Amino acid sequence: METLTSAGHSLYFESGLEALKNLLESNKYSKVFILADEHTSEICLPVFQSMMDDFSEFDLIETSAGEENKNIDFCIGIWKTLLDFEADRKSLLINLGGGVITDMGGFIASTYKRGIDFINVPTTLLSQVDASVGGKTGIDIDNVKNMVGTFTLPQMVFIETGFLKTLPKRELLSGFAEMIKHGLIYDKTYYEKLKSTDYLTPSAEDIYRSVEIKNEVVTIDPHEKNLRKILNFGHTIGHAVEGYSLANDENPLTHGEAIAIGFVCEAALSIKNSTLTKEELKDISTYLLSLYPKYHIKKESFDTLLELMQSDKKNEDGNILFSLLENIGKCTFNCRVSTADILSSLDYYNSL
Ligand code: NAD
Ligand code: ZN
Repeated sequence: METLTSAGHSLYFESGLEALKNLLESNKYSKVFILADEHTSEICLPVFQSMMDDFSEFDLIETSAGEENKNIDFCIGIWKTLLDFEADRKSLLINLGGGVITDMGGFIASTYKRGIDFINVPTTLLSQVDASVGGKTGIDIDNVKNMVGTFTLPQMVFIETGFLKTLPKRELLSGFAEMIKHGLIYDKTYYEKLKSTDYLTPSAEDIYRSVEIKNEVVTIDPHEKNLRKILNFGHTIGHAVEGYSLANDENPLTHGEAIAIGFVCEAALSIKNSTLTKEELKDISTYLLSLYPKYHIKKESFDTLLELMQSDKKNEDGNILFSLLENIGKCTFNCRVSTADILSSLDYYNSL
């Protein structure tokens, strides 16, 4: 479809194969590594290779799938593997997978020998519309999401919606949450359009609109000094619920399921602490509850959730800072909110 210029690197949408082939065939890189998880190495790697004329000049590094593996132990293992393979500073790492692989692979590449080049080939809806764009890399420490990481741009991002054909329904629903977020914070018309879209079959046009919104915001504010903070809408509470669920639930919430809860809670906060109307809150809650399974936020988890929110990187001077909706389609940031209001927003979600 198109190429977007994203803060210094190219973001290819259903295009760019030639550019990628040329880059790999140039003498720029001494060695090429592909990082994939157990699923993407089996399902997506053959697709990627066939797109690339049976490209085979690489070493594969495979990890276990899942958020619980986005951690320092896996990084150490992968750094050591790179050393064993004698990767030098002219090596290239291709991250082939979802947000776990692009976040962790980006972090590994940005730190290995003080940084080697990497390319993101996102294969989940979530990573295509969000995680692979914008240069945030990172890993979780204990239950705190993305606690350690860097802002490092990939050489290029290569988005091919064909990868989504094999993605499980639950993962499509997870990625759809980030698309809804883009509508909520930036484009009401897009939000309304998504409301009548089947999350199982999002159009390339809709996916492209999300990539465009994310790219526009991060290009204006790459290092999250101001505007980029709006992308955190739903994530302060969402990340805490996700971290808690990961540590305590047998079948933990996906990132999208957790932030959908965060959207409802933070929309509730937006009534009292910003200018969102009750009608808009009702609209958002009804829509999200019609899509995402209802989760019960246990009363006994409230203190832990507050602690997790306190450890959020976005905080300043010990205050938990929120990005809140002014209305559907517009978001503001750096909002201070009382603990009582946060707890009421969790109660509000439970009451639905
Ligand atoms: P994920 O990487 O765990 O992928 C989900 C599952 O889908 C995995 O089991 C994976 O193996 C499988 N999979 C991937 N592609 C597939 C395909 N094409 N067909 C079949 N199965 C496939 O999870 P995710 O939802 O992609 O990403 C979540 C992560 O992204 C979180 O860690 C979150 O913090 C991060 N994130 C980062 C940013 C950022 O700006 N850096 C933004 C949003 C989210
Ligand atoms: Zn997210």
